[in-house]
Formats: sequence, structure tokens, C-alpha cells
Amino acid sequence: MLDIGPSAAQDGVLIGGEWRAGEAALPVEDPSTGEIVGEIAAGGAADVDDAVAAARAALTGEWGALSAAERGRVLSRIGLRVAECADELARLEAIDVGKPLKQAKADALALARYLEFYGGAADKLHGETIPYLDGYTVFTRREPHGVTGHITPWNYPMQIIGRSVTAALAVGNAAVLKPAEEASLTALAFARIANDCGLPKGALNVVAGDGETAGAALAAHPDVDHVSFTGSSAVGALIQTAAAARAAPVTLELGGKSAQLVFDDADLDAALPFLVNAGVQNAGQTCSAASRLLVQRGVYDALLERLARRYGALRVGPALRDLEVGPLISARQQKIVQGYFDLAEARSGIAVAARGRIVDDAPGGGHYFAPALLTGVAPSHRLAQEEIFGPVQVVIPFDDEDEAVAIANGTAFGLVAAVWTRDGARQLRVAGRLKAGQVFVNNYGAGGGVELPFGGVKRSGHGREKGFEALYGFTALKTVAVLHG
Ligand code: NAD
Repeated sequence: MLDIGPSAAQDGVLIGGEWRAGEAALPVEDPSTGEIVGEIAAGGAADVDDAVAAARAALTGEWGALSAAERGRVLSRIGLRVAECADELARLEAIDVGKPLKQAKADALALARYLEFYGGAADKLHGETIPYLDGYTVFTRREPHGVTGHITPWNYPMQIIGRSVTAALAVGNAAVLKPAEEASLTALAFARIANDCGLPKGALNVVAGDGETAGAALAAHPDVDHVSFTGSSAVGALIQTAAAARAAPVTLELGGKSAQLVFDDADLDAALPFLVNAGVQNAGQTCSAASRLLVQRGVYDALLERLARRYGALRVGPALRDLEVGPLISARQQKIVQGYFDLAEARSGIAVAARGRIVDDAPGGGHYFAPALLTGVAPSHRLAQEEIFGPVQVVIPFDDEDEAVAIANGTAFGLVAAVWTRDGARQLRVAGRLKAGQVFVNNYGAGGGVELPFGGVKRSGHGREKGFEALYGFTALKTVAVLHG
């Protein structure tokens, strides 16, 4: 159904509703085999200029003339089509990102759900009236920023387009999207679907390309009014600096080192799948991966044994085999993750409590890494401080609540956390003390829930996407004070 596939050469630049070849080329690698399976003709700074101009023109053209309800209807229509194409999109993502098919399909359906949510929300964003001095009527309006730039990573391409681009469109911005160079196929497929469903020309423009050229040009562009960036903390700092030159607002969704705190009274049966899944989902390449498991000493040994058993059952293999874990995105990422794992091997006192298993027939060129569960890691060690972005979890014991909170908060990041306890007072107390953008109690949603505002504190970023909060972020508030006597 989709006019796009990994094997054909793809045009990666969409400007004002027209596809063009652009000035650069990006290879499409299948991480499950390491083979180059296609090529994307991608763009550079000149294409970004044109894309921003097309977005600006859309704001005063057909797109800008739509009512909020009409915008919502277009987004809802695109959402239905995305849902119809979910299997094809999942296959494309599996080949491009190495994501097991079931996880890739969940991403496609999440994108459809974002379109449903933001399509429905488009005409429900209200201003307020404010009581003021006698003779005045004062009200607020929520207005689109104008042209929004969206720079996205490779780990959840469809979900991140959903929470960023569709929310910006819902409130009337015109968008320019720069997807990650490692994974642009579903972004291009999404743009085709949006075009086919009648999204007015120029409302969404796409420039696939390198971060340092196309991405940097978009972040620094003087005519981009807001930048939404999802990616590493290091690049996030560059984006914020580039936008600061023109005082443009930015949303930064960055990395994490999230912790799940398991107290002695926790329901371990309920916790177990969440503890492991949140570490190995998408081969650990998840911003909100729970890479630290903090366990109270009373249940430490029993839980460790159960965690290890679960790890032993994890199979790693090609995305299209749809096992529990797929390959890492690239040889580069494999080397980074292996480098962290080698720290464990080199340091006495750190033990490998369990590992998953790479299936025997996994292609030799694929970027596989067997998930690893580590113990004996001091909370200050690099393995417990730095974002590894691979399926490596450390299990750290604690004595009491104060110590657990101190360890959980003791990194540079603050994205997501979870508390497992049956004690209601403790649930609320610890949820309040944890420095994170989302806290789950007796569950863990790695970024989960379209409706739930999401984002970080500290080096995990600032600003919120998802839920209604995203709509506030993609609008500027104007106060109108009328003196009528
Ligand atoms: P990355 O920062 O390397 O790249 C992200 C995007 O930025 C890509 O599109 C890339 O091309 C672009 N880019 C790179 N250099 C640039 C530059 N100089 N100027 C402008 N753009 C540039 O991140 P990644 O490796 O693709 O993704 C992994 C990171 O993303 C991890 O740290 C992860 O935690 C984070 N992430 C965060 C969230 C969240 O919601 N908080 C979600 C997913 C991923």
C-alpha cells in the first residue's frame, strides 16, 4: 500500500508538498544483518532554507486558513490511514531500526493514537478571561509559534513524530522535520500518508539528512520560531545554544538513567516483568529505559534470582524473527555498549549476574548484544551514572527510603522513575521526593501513554510533550486587555 520500501532509492526531502532528491545521500542499513539495503537522497542547508520558506508560506495559505476543527479532522484522517498501514510501517521500521516486529507495530499504532488524540484536541484548546480593573475585559489567546523545527532520534521514530510533529500541527504551526540519519524511512512514509490524506502543502516539510548539516541548519535558522529536539544531552546543548541566538523557545527531550525502587513489601510478581522489560525493550535504546534497579536488602537475593532467570530466557535475534530483543542500531552503538560492558569485566567486585542469549542463526553482520544484568556496581560508578543506551541493567541494594531516594536522585539525569511498594504513604512520599518528569507507582511505562505529559528535569531536558501539555508548549500565550469603560 505504501509507495516506499527499504530497497528503492528514496527522495528524502519534501518541500511544499513536492518531493525532491536533495543534495546528499544516506545509506539505509538493516541492523539485523549489517547490510546496506537502500539509499535516501537527503538534503542540506539549502533544502532547510526552502523547507522553512514553504512552512512560512503555508501559515498564510490553505493550511493557515483552516479552522481548528478542520485541522483536527485532517489529523484524524491521517491517523486512520496510519493505523491501516501499521503492518507495513512496522516492517519498514523493523528493517530500518532493527526493532522486533511487535514493538515496531506498537510504535505505528502509537503514532495513529497521537493523531487521534491531537486531532480530537485541536479545537479544544481555550484561552481564559481574567478579572481585572473596572472597565476592562481581559482574555488570553493561545497562538501557534509559527514555523516549528523538529529534530528526532532513531530509537522511536514514529512515536516521536507523533508526540512532537502532530501536536505542533494540531495548534496550527507549520513544521519542518529532520529525522535521524540512521532511521528516516517511516518519517518519509508518514509524510507520504499525510500528503495523500490531504494535509495542505507546506504544513509538513521533511529534510532527511545529517545532523551536523541539515539538523544544525534547522536549529540555527533565523525563521524557525520553536525547536523541538529529542536526542542526546550533548546535541541538546548545541540546539539550545543555536536557538538562544534568536531567543527561540526549545523543547529538549534528552537522555536518562532512570531507576525503579523496589521496597521489601513490593508485589514482586507484579514488578518482575516491568523491571526487566523497561531495561531491554528496544534493546535498551530507550530514553526512559530503567537501567538502574534499586532493591531493598530484605528482598534483594530473592528478586535477583528471579531477575536472573528472566534474563536467561531473553532471546536476541533479527527484527523480523520478532524475539524479545533485536539488534542495536549500528556497529558504532554496539561498540559503545560493549565498551561499557567491558568496564564491568575489568573491575573487581562487579559481577555479571545473568545474560540473554543471541540465537545461533543470527546473521554474523548484525549488531547484536546479549542483555546483561550486573551487580556489585557502586552508585557512583560510570555504569550507574552514564546513559549506556543498550540492554544493560545494574542492580543496587539499599537499606532504607532515604538511601533509595538519594541513589535514585544521584545522577545528572531526571527523566522517569518507579516506586514499588504496598505502603500508600510511602508511595506518595517517595513519588514526591524523586527528581523526574514522570513517576510511576507499582507500574512502569517506558514513556508510555499518549495522554501523559512527558519530559525531563536536569540533564534530561525541559519542556513537556504528550498530553495537553504539548499543546501549551507549541503555542505562545497572548494577553489581550480591552479598556471599554
Ligand atoms: P543524537 O543527539 O545523536 O541525534 C538526535 C538527532 O539530532 C538526530 O536527528 C541527529 O541527526 C541530530 N543531530 C546530531 N547532531 C546535530 C547537530 N550538531 N545539530 C542539530 N542536530 C543534530 O541522538 P540519537 O543517538 O539519535 O538518540 C539517542 C539519544 O536520544 C539518547 O540520549 C536518548 O536518551 C535520547 N532520547 C530521548 C528521548 C526523550 O524523550 N527524552 C526519546 C528518545 C531518545
